[in-house]
Amino acid sequence: MTLWNRLLGNRPRRRHSHVVFEATTTCNHVCPHCYNAWEADETYPRGLLDTKRTCELLGKIIDETRLDLLSFSGGEPMLRKDFFELVDFVAGRGVAINLITNGSLLDRAAIDRIGPATVSLYELPLLGPNADIHDRMSGKQGAFDRVTRAIAELKDAGEDVVCAFVATNWNIDHWKDTAELAFALGTDGIMFNRFNPGGRGLQNLEELQVDPRRLTRALDQAQALTSELNLPISCSIPMQPCLLPHERWPDLDFGFCAAGTKNAYYAVDPLGNMRPCNHSPTILGNLLTSNFWDLVGSDEHKRFLTGHPAFCSGCRLEDECLGGCKAAAQVAFGDINHCDPFLSAYKDQARKLSKNAESD
Ligand code: SF4
Ligand code: SF4
Repeated sequence: MTLWNRLLGNRPRRRHSHVVFEATTTCNHVCPHCYNAWEADETYPRGLLDTKRTCELLGKIIDETRLDLLSFSGGEPMLRKDFFELVDFVAGRGVAINLITNGSLLDRAAIDRIGPATVSLYELPLLGPNADIHDRMSGKQGAFDRVTRAIAELKDAGEDVVCAFVATNWNIDHWKDTAELAFALGTDGIMFNRFNPGGRGLQNLEELQVDPRRLTRALDQAQALTSELNLPISCSIPMQPCLLPHERWPDLDFGFCAAGTKNAYYAVDPLGNMRPCNHSPTILGNLLTSNFWDLVGSDEHKRFLTGHPAFCSGCRLEDECLGGCKAAAQVAFGDINHCDPFLSAYKDQARKLSKNAESD
């Protein structure tokens, strides 16, 4: 036994498995549904640390959390001039990497530079089955051609890829065709996310938010596709069961709010500011000067986690569902205890899920 182990008494150190590093707030697309916290708040701190300081930040996060997985996100993370160096650094520390990118800069040379199996999972948007729809949803002409080429190149290189579809009124009628295109391109799975307003998306809430009836139809299609194509489809943005009964789609993978749980994905911006998740604008503190676990245990974080809509009191799924997305409630209504914008808009259609199931 080393002296170090003896001093520590072999106590296991605390572990957290996943952090999202928002490598830059800059992006070369202008998606109308973008939820990035800084897009709705001009006062949100912006800027970049240089490469050395960024590696110090990432190293500190890895050391303090014994991290399993780091997702590079943004903005568009590949816009950073030192992007490959940062990937090399994280991979060199033995941490698995997800790369969340719009695909615009992911050509064969970039894939080769990153290196085989360096990134565990590439997550790219596929927002429509053709250039008209995908480019409109990306706010960028040429986005469809670039992302479909990137997906094909990644699959040719043997990498694992998931396509992310954000369901809005602009593209939901094309969801099935989009999923079939993703399958034809060789994707390993699809994320079907309902539009969850935040950031720039908040300005487009009325126009983009899809009603439960159209979401039900799209989820019926997803249920058929997942079994026909043997393609995993997950819905990570919470879909409240009182509006969308999960049991109707047994082969889809539904998620609830992960904030504060062992599955939480704390977001860290390019300056080191940590938030409860990537949709929340709440800054818990800065990781250059504070310990990760101190921020997890902070009063600000506790306040965030206690958010709870009064509407959900007495629902049998209250403790699991938590009413949807606290971050969206916070951004849209300035109140962590408000119903999130989706539940708020359609709560008159909600089924009552009382604790006594027979009375539903
Ligand atoms: S907890 Fe609230 S949002 Fe979730 S199913 Fe129950 S009533 Fe609906
Ligand atoms: S607050 Fe919203 S975005 Fe954040 S973890 Fe919960 S459901 Fe997800």
